[in-house]
Amino acid sequence: MTHEGWLKEAIKLATTSVMNNQGGPFGAIVVKNGQIVGQGNNQVTSTSDPTAHAEVVAIRNACANIGSHQLTGCTIYSSCEPCPMCLGAIYWSRPDKVYFAATRLEAAASGFDDALIYNEIEKPPEKRIIPFHHIGLAESKQPFDVWGSNTGRIDY
Ligand SMILES: [Zn+2]
Repeated sequence: MTHEGWLKEAIKLATTSVMNNQGGPFGAIVVKNGQIVGQGNNQVTSTSDPTAHAEVVAIRNACANIGSHQLTGCTIYSSCEPCPMCLGAIYWSRPDKVYFAATRLEAAASGFDDALIYNEIEKPPEKRIIPFHHIGLAESKQPFDVWGSNTGRIDY
């Protein structure tokens, strides 16, 4: 299938999501070797989960299906340009590429405005709308020390 064809599949998921009152108008699919290995639609309101964006749902679904925490060799097709949270999830899951249909400006016109979060990233943590306060403790590095000496760890 063409990139346009996969994007149309993601858009169908987005539209169905709205028609079924599952959440916002967003859908995403994960493709590997010409096959869908994961898919998701926005489920924020139906599952009371603010992180249940289409891309996150699709990444979780694909990783569970593949049996890996990485999406090496996969392409994500999203009905809309990913928000900052999904952008982070995409980088952590490491697919090869991302294609999206609607732009973030088009999403903003429907009330889904990511600009606020993008702007927040550049601010000093304590100056954000939701302030982030750093409190360094003697124990702060302990988990990293344990991680570093754990020979059974799985790096990612
Ligand atoms: Zn998102």
